[in-house]
Amino acid sequence: MPATSQALPQAAQSALTPGQVISKYQVDAPVDVVGIAHELGVNVWETHTMPDNISGKIFRDPLNGGTSGFSIVVNSSHAIVRKRFTIAHEIAHFILHRHILESRSDLTDDAMYRSGLSTKEETAANQLAATILMPYSLINKIVNEGTNDVDALATRFQVSTTAMKIRLGVPV
Ligand SMILES: [Zn+2]
Repeated sequence: MPATSQALPQAAQSALTPGQVISKYQVDAPVDVVGIAHELGVNVWETHTMPDNISGKIFRDPLNGGTSGFSIVVNSSHAIVRKRFTIAHEIAHFILHRHILESRSDLTDDAMYRSGLSTKEETAANQLAATILMPYSLINKIVNEGTNDVDALATRFQVSTTAMKIRLGVPV
């Protein structure tokens, strides 16, 4: 009997919903994406054995996975801002597409964050990743404190300038 989608939105071993877990880590920038993953029951690893055109993956990891049984692994050769986006993107797959993960055991994202899921699903994962890394409430707070330059905001949030521009609706 395969796993059903019943457990879909549950954060393993956490009394909080995924949304509550994310909010808990959005009190200051940069948002601790590894902390979010851990609290959702997902371990995070880096590897230097991934080809450059692979960003990372989320996979069933019975040996070293978190309490959910899953781990995220990211390409250690990539820049920190990219690794953080990859972790957030894989967290988004874990939250949004758990039912697919349960049946497939792993999702591997290439450099363009394509994993074989539909464009709609990848777009949703990218949008949730941006929401995790750059919550508007925190952007507004930091802008109100006097940081309103896009590059400075990107640095503060440890995201790429392009990602911050997209989030702010500024032409890239
Ligand atoms: Zn993806």
